[in-house]
Amino acid sequence: MTKILDELLAANKLYAEKFGTKGDLQAAPIKKFAILTCMDARLDPAKFAGLSEGDAHVIRNAGGRASDDAIRSLLISHKLLGTNEWFVIHHTDCGLEKFSNKDIDKKFNLEPDNSIDWLTFSNNEKSVMEDVLHIKNHPLVPNSILVYGYIYHCKTGKMIEVKEATKVGARQI
Ligand code: ZN
Repeated sequence: MTKILDELLAANKLYAEKFGTKGDLQAAPIKKFAILTCMDARLDPAKFAGLSEGDAHVIRNAGGRASDDAIRSLLISHKLLGTNEWFVIHHTDCGLEKFSNKDIDKKFNLEPDNSIDWLTFSNNEKSVMEDVLHIKNHPLVPNSILVYGYIYHCKTGKMIEVKEATKVGARQI
């Protein structure tokens, strides 16, 4: 066993010992919302958004980008499990803002014309806006879904709204 595995299993043992009535929770999120955010280890949506087990869906990937797979999860979150409000939350000091697609290609010794789009970005507010628009314009996303755009600030723990994105996210066509 590695040290990491050892520690993780010990932590889980303690967690399970205090599990209480959480076994009675249903799959559908109690608070009927979903968060799409970055996998960055400094972000803990349960803490910064005040969540407990069973409250909300949290979908994470590098950058918190509205990739095809993130949208797949959001669609299931709504249609099968009843969420009606979605938060796109990017953050300051994100790795995907610091590196370009080309930079990441180089790390893998890939040709620049390879088929992987790493979904990097150069402007945080713009990327939130893009992702909210991309979600909102998806043909299977109902108009009634409210999508909010935010940037989480790693130095303060505050979520700051990207007003234009939230405005687009509330659009009823
Ligand atoms: Zn990030």
